[in-house]
Amino acid sequence: MYTHVNQNLLGKGVRLRFAYTLRTDAEQAELYAQGRTKLFDNAGKRLVIVTNAKPGQSIHNYGLAFDIVLLLDKNGDGVFEAASWDTKADNDKDGVTDWVKSKGWAWGGDWKSLKDYPHFEKTFGHTWKTLHVKMDNQEIISENIAGKNYIYPTL
Ligand SMILES: [Zn+2]
Repeated sequence: MYTHVNQNLLGKGVRLRFAYTLRTDAEQAELYAQGRTKLFDNAGKRLVIVTNAKPGQSIHNYGLAFDIVLLLDKNGDGVFEAASWDTKADNDKDGVTDWVKSKGWAWGGDWKSLKDYPHFEKTFGHTWKTLHVKMDNQEIISENIAGKNYIYPTL
């Protein structure tokens, strides 16, 4: 999908990157704390609530979700210097917004509360609760690709 999106959907000066795929429970806890118990980042910037999911409650914790970001080369020098989460932008000026709503993936921008525009997920009919049971029963697949560990539930 990744190569397809970059070559066929996005034009010159726009590239798609995955910002978040699998997220550990510890990373989820850190995210959940933002705007609640952690109010400022290291630079002193006020943090807002970005998720209502505690550890184990996000589809990311089961490796079935990804967040995207668009990288922009605004002056055409081959360096992608800007990141964009603008869902309306048409940076390659082909008359179509660059944001991708992939077939079969649920989009966080469609959520009723706390919209999550970079977020896409495919749960195969599961909820975080039924996925959590699979995790507890060790019904998960683990594989190592290029030195990195990935886990998936057996669906
Ligand atoms: Zn997400």
